[in-house]
Amino acid sequence: MASNNPKKRREIAAVLGRCGVVVVPATETVAVAVEEDGDTFAANAAKKARAFAAANHLPAIADDSGLCVDALGGAPGVFSSRYAGVEGDDVANNAKLLRALSGETNRRASFVCHIHLAFPDGRPPLLAEGRVEGEILRQPEGGQGFGYDPLFFSPELGMAFANATAAQKASVSHRGRALRRLAEQLRALELG
Ligand code: IMP
Repeated sequence: MASNNPKKRREIAAVLGRCGVVVVPATETVAVAVEEDGDTFAANAAKKARAFAAANHLPAIADDSGLCVDALGGAPGVFSSRYAGVEGDDVANNAKLLRALSGETNRRASFVCHIHLAFPDGRPPLLAEGRVEGEILRQPEGGQGFGYDPLFFSPELGMAFANATAAQKASVSHRGRALRRLAEQLRALELG
């Protein structure tokens, strides 16, 4: 798995484990530094997965995800993890988002996730996308999850993602949906 994020790893391992896949975290593989400089989630996921598959001679899965806010023309999008300038500074990213939407009544947003499973032997990749619609809250709530979860209200769950358990979040989330689509393709591959 081309990611060092332990929360993502748990979400990915939980779904793919059910179809017999053992997920090896990036920390236990040949390290590859990949710059996420693509214009799209799909391009970034492909770049990460291909680099890890080539370096480790194993199938490699990468996810690229982010928050797209309607009133901001889809921002922060591929810049979600460094929206406020510093990579992975969730507190600053959330504060910047609240400032950007101050006085804005259209709070619609979606989380988007693209997953790319690259094979080292030249077989075509497996691709899966997931999306979840929600609303950006006016102040942070809850203490679970990561990233923009404290500001993302899910109408399907009736609560902020940061108030949901991991299982509740995965049942509707962009990553959960993309992973279940990938798992369907993996099962078909094994039967075929
Ligand atoms: P990535 O690690 O390059 O895919 O960046 C994803 C960034 O988008 C994270 O750093 C978060 O800011 C945001 N993001 C993606 N998925 C989620 C999620 O499930 N909850 C909250 N924020 C997320």
